[in-house]
Amino acid sequence: MKKFFAKLFGNNTEGSTSSFIKLHPAIDNGIKPTNNTFVGGSINCQCRKNPVTVKLSGQTAHNHACGCSKCWKPKGALFSQVAVIPRDKVSVTANAKKLVIVDKSATIKRHACKDCGVHMYGRIEDANHPFYGLDFVHTELSSEQGWSAPAFAAFVSSVIETGTDPKSMPAIRDRFESLGLEAYDCLSPDLMDAIATHISKNK
Ligand SMILES: [Zn+2]
Ligand SMILES: [Zn+2]
Repeated sequence: MKKFFAKLFGNNTEGSTSSFIKLHPAIDNGIKPTNNTFVGGSINCQCRKNPVTVKLSGQTAHNHACGCSKCWKPKGALFSQVAVIPRDKVSVTANAKKLVIVDKSATIKRHACKDCGVHMYGRIEDANHPFYGLDFVHTELSSEQGWSAPAFAAFVSSVIETGTDPKSMPAIRDRFESLGLEAYDCLSPDLMDAIATHISKNK
C-alpha cells in the first residue's frame, strides 16, 4: 500500500489532493498543444546504444491516456499515452532486427524492442477490425514537438486490474477532469460510435 501511494503521489507523503497523482509525464507536466501544421517525425526506443527508430510520416490522431494493462507505460506512470496513425505512414528506419511482437495472439500486435521493452508500434492485421489500417504509437518517444495532444482518457477503471486501489479512482478521475481530459471506462464516444458503425455496416 505504501508503495502504491508513493507511486501515486510521488514524494509527497501528505498527497491528499488529486494534483499529486502521477498519470503520465506528458500529461502531468503540462500538455503540449497540437501543431496543426506538423508533418511528423521519428520515435526512438530507450536503448542508449543502437535504438530502434520508427519514422512517422504524418500527424497522429486520437491521442489519449490509456489505463489498459497492455499498452506500454513509462516508469512510474499509471497510464500510457497512445495515438493512432495510418500504417502506411509508419516505417522502421533503424535496428528493426531488435523488434519482437509482445503477444502474437493479441488483436493488436505490439512490436517492442527486445532490449528496453518499449513498444514502438501496435498493428492490427485483421482486415475486418474497425481500426484496421491504423497503428498505435507513443509519441512521447519523439524529440519533436507538435504531435496531437492527448484529448481524453480511456479504460480508466482498468488501472484497478494492474494494482490501483479502487478507493483512489475518484481522485484519478478528478485529476483528469482538472486537466481538461474526459475520463471514460471504454474509448471516447467518437471512437465507440466508429466501432459500432463498422460493426453495423458489416452485418
Ligand atoms: Zn530499445
Ligand atoms: Zn491501452
